[in-house]
Amino acid sequence: THSSMLAAWNEHVHTRPHDPAVHYFDTTLTFADIDRAADALAVALHDNGLDATDRVALYLQNDPQWLVSLLAAWKLRAVPVAVNPMLRAEELRHILTDSGASTLICLDSLYQTVVAGIRDGTALQTVLTTHPLDMTPNATVPPAVAHQVPARTSFADTLDWHTLTHRYRDRRPEPATPRPRDIAALTYTSGTTGRSKGAMNSHSAMVHSSTVYARWWDLQPERDVIIGLAPVFHITGLVAGFGVHIISGAPLVLLHRFDAEAILQAIERWRGTFMIGAGTAFIALTTHPALDAVDVSSLTKTPSGGAPVGQALVDRIRARAGWTLRGAYGMTETTSPTHLGPPDIDPPTDPDSGALSVGVPVPGAQVRIVDPVSGRDLGPGEPGEIVVAGPMVVPGYWRLPEESAHAIRDGWLYTGDLGKVTDEGWLFVVDRIKDLINAGGYKVVPRDVEDVLYQHPAVREASVVGVPDEYRGETVKAFVSLVPNAAVSSEELIGYCRERMAAYKYPRSVVILDELPKNASGKLLRRELRNG
Ligand code: ATP
Ligand code: MG
Repeated sequence: THSSMLAAWNEHVHTRPHDPAVHYFDTTLTFADIDRAADALAVALHDNGLDATDRVALYLQNDPQWLVSLLAAWKLRAVPVAVNPMLRAEELRHILTDSGASTLICLDSLYQTVVAGIRDGTALQTVLTTHPLDMTPNATVPPAVAHQVPARTSFADTLDWHTLTHRYRDRRPEPATPRPRDIAALTYTSGTTGRSKGAMNSHSAMVHSSTVYARWWDLQPERDVIIGLAPVFHITGLVAGFGVHIISGAPLVLLHRFDAEAILQAIERWRGTFMIGAGTAFIALTTHPALDAVDVSSLTKTPSGGAPVGQALVDRIRARAGWTLRGAYGMTETTSPTHLGPPDIDPPTDPDSGALSVGVPVPGAQVRIVDPVSGRDLGPGEPGEIVVAGPMVVPGYWRLPEESAHAIRDGWLYTGDLGKVTDEGWLFVVDRIKDLINAGGYKVVPRDVEDVLYQHPAVREASVVGVPDEYRGETVKAFVSLVPNAAVSSEELIGYCRERMAAYKYPRSVVILDELPKNASGKLLRRELRNG
């Protein structure tokens, strides 16, 4: 295996420079094209003060620039910081100050709307702005950019990508070689349960996880095409998009941002074979009318993770699109997967809850289930906290020694997730420990209630939370969105659940919303629903 992600990349550049690397709308970029742009950018960033171990924040969409920036950072042994482009001022400020980034690469539109207002108070020295399109190596500098380069500011320069990469064309950086333990990316947790924390994902961890995906689905450059659906600022898209592309050499289709119709068309056009996404993304694709007009049968490798995926959802997606979702379980802190569903085995269902297994441990992953109170190891079938170890686990959170020591003890990561395993190693993720509802002493697993709601044909998305209740302490409340043109009342949904579950479990109220709040990794945000 490779000593770093950059070493894996360099091998493609040397052995097959003119093969397609990235398809971006009507542009196809080869390995050599991207590498040349990354060289130019690395020199430009270095000339503007970026050095080894310095942080460079990437505040971009799923565009080729992201990959170019990532490679440029690696070429300098600098640390790329992945930033969600949907974050607004305060959240961005948190990541910029937390990471101490000295350089920011961002879309021009985001510079105007967000960055300009918060740059003071950060450690930013250089901001490089770019446009989503037209980063091809031979493109001329768009005339519009001249006035978009603001005057000198308090933090040195704001530079334009196109001008820069032109000025530095054909220059190469001093070669630097990332070490296996260097941070390949500082990625932030989704912030589903609280403030997001920076996870230090090393080169060796990223090589490991990317290789796991590539081998698990036997991805080959001549045969496979990766559809870059998942956002690459999140660990899932970073590893199962860029990482898998770099390790396998299979071309990657990038689509700027999530647009169901564009993704469906790209699958048909490029004969996509591999795509990872949250269940909510697959729901959006398979409820979109454009699905009827395209042939998506090439897509046979479809892991789905990040959030629960139940049998009802899997059945619905298979019926609509012919895709068979396979489980994927992991966290930002585990550089993506610790468990995957084997491609050709249907996962077992949990006899108690009917939940679907997320898969079996990937090579190198060690798993324990422990009693969250006593810390005692539990046996097969007994629910407890999922605890994992292996080459994919981060050494800790960026500059958070206390949180790191709490989450990672003797190399074991305490996930905060409740789960259980079968004696064959299949993992069931029951739910987040923090989200369990205590309804008058009865423990309700929100996910069990959501799974029943998903069985109702009118329900598109469901999220269940505990809300304060005078008599029971907490009571069960559900929020749902409906499939297009469906009509059902809250009372009917309550009745539907009541017939199918114990009396303490069924939701006492159901609120129907047009859309449920979710974060950019596609996870439904119970936290926001709970807080009203
Ligand atoms: P934060 O840690 O900031 O609250 P987060 O935990 O959502 O946010 P991520 O690292 O993106 O941040 O997500 C990891 C979590 O996602 C896991 O701990 C687990 O709760 C959930 N998860 C991941 N995969 C699955 C899956 N296949 N089924 C159920 N839950 C999953
Ligand atoms: Mg988490």
